[in-house]
Formats: sequence, C-alpha cells, structure tokens
Amino acid sequence: MNTLSPTGRTRIRRHSERGRADRQDLYDVLDAGLICHLGVVIDDVPHVLPTGYGRDGDTLYLHGSTGARSLMAAAEDVEVCVAVTLVDGIVMARSVFNHSMNYRSAMVYGRPVSMVSDEEKLAGLRAVVDHLAPGQWDVLRPTNRKELAATSVLALSLAEASVKIRTGPSADEEDAPGVWSGVLPVRQVFEPPVPDPELPGGIAVPAHVAARVTR
Ligand SMILES: Cc1cc2nc3c(=O)[nH]c(=O)nc-3n(C[C@H](O)[C@H](O)[C@H](O)COP(=O)(O)OP(=O)(O)OC[C@H]3O[C@@H](n4cnc5c(N)ncnc54)[C@H](O)[C@@H]3O)c2cc1C
Repeated sequence: MNTLSPTGRTRIRRHSERGRADRQDLYDVLDAGLICHLGVVIDDVPHVLPTGYGRDGDTLYLHGSTGARSLMAAAEDVEVCVAVTLVDGIVMARSVFNHSMNYRSAMVYGRPVSMVSDEEKLAGLRAVVDHLAPGQWDVLRPTNRKELAATSVLALSLAEASVKIRTGPSADEEDAPGVWSGVLPVRQVFEPPVPDPELPGGIAVPAHVAARVTR
C-alpha cells in the first residue's frame, strides 16, 4: 500500500493541489518531525496535547505516564487525530491576505491500541526513543519492570492519514509597488551537545549524538 487512499475525512478540500498521495511523503513528514499534537475529546472537550512519538513501518507510537489523562482517554477505543507540523518558511506578501507559510504537515486519524505485553511496549518505546535520538536505544541500560509498569504505550495505525505541503512564494498580485515580498526560510537546527554536569570524566559524546549536530 504505497499510496494514501483518501477517506471522507482525509480528502483535502482546501488547496487540494497541496495534498500528497504518496505514502513516502507521510513517512518523510513523520520522520522529520520531533513532536506531534494528539487531539482527543475528554468529557466532551477537545484536548490537543503536544507529545513525542515514534514510527515503525505503518504504526505510530505514543507513550507517557500511565497517569496521563490524555493517553488514558486515547486508549479507551476512541477516535483521535494526531498532527505533525514542520514550518519551512514565512511567506511574506504585499498584502495581508496573501501572507502564508511554507510547511509540510500530516494528520493521522484512528483508534489507538494500548500495548499490553512487555514485548509490545518495548517495541513502541524503542520507536519513540530512536525517533528523538537515533541510535540511543542500543546504548541504554534495559528498562526495568517498575518503569515499564509506569509507562503506557499506544499504537496508532497509519492507515488513515493525509499530507499537505506548501512550497514557493506568495500568490501575490503586484499591486503594492516598493513593498518587499518573498520567503523567510525556517529550519530546525541541532546545536553542539551539552554534557550533563554530573557526568563522570572520560565519557565522550557518542558518535550517534555528535552526528546529529547541524552543520
Ligand atoms: C504551519 C501551518 C500554518 C497554516 N496556517 C494557516 C492559516 O493561517 N490559515 C488557514 O486557513 N490555514 C492554514 N494552514 C492550512 C490548514 O492546516 C488547513 O489546511 C486549511 O485551513 C484548510 O482547512 P480545512 O478544514 O478547510 O481543510 P479541508 O481541506 O476541508 O480538510 C479536509 C482534510 O484534509 C486534511 N488536511 C487539511 N489540512 C491539512 C494539513 N495542513 N495537513 C495535513 N492534512 C490536512 C485532513 O485530513 C482534513 O480532515 C496552515 C497549515 C500549516 C501546516
């Protein structure tokens, strides 16, 4: 299944030309993002929670404390929406109306499933850790039973998702001579790592961490 098959709720209506049907575009947006926003209705009120995530194939994993209300609500066989947003530029126009943003964004709909067995939970946690810090899982001490019991892990299928991407300058008309228009590019950078003050001497920054620093 290499294409995103639009459903009634994932069919992009507004600026449909910005929609992407290739599943790889979905993976690319999810893999490039650091956080997602989990939308879930709790007691008839929509809640939108920023949180970490990870992807393994066509499954998105979310994790958190077993006491986190949003995760508990999302685990109750309810519909959720997860959004990942990457801002690539501020699009400046000659008119207020034509200002915009360049972006890559994804929305995923579905009913998350709560991971129960240790194996399932660990697979989800690995995806989350390696998403934020690729290579980190392999060097960590094993997760203990207490930590595992205190952590809930949810799996959300990527079966129903949409991707929307905007690029390029504004859709400006040249009706304001002398006013600058263009794009102010935005990018996320990783700065050189800062060692923990308690870190014993002689432990160098691992290669997989150093490799992430933006050049
Ligand atoms: C960083 C950023 C800034 C934006 N700023 C604005 C703004 O200021 N004003 C504005 O009107 N719009 C803005 N948008 C676009 C906005 O996300 C919507 O696409 C747009 O408002 C149309 O909404 P709609 O409900 O009419 O979409 P519809 O086309 O009716 O939505 C139908 C379905 O399309 C999919 N979809 C819609 N939008 C997106 C998306 N962005 N990413 C992935 N799937 C999507 C969803 O599955 C949705 O259920 C911005 C988007 C981003 C990422």
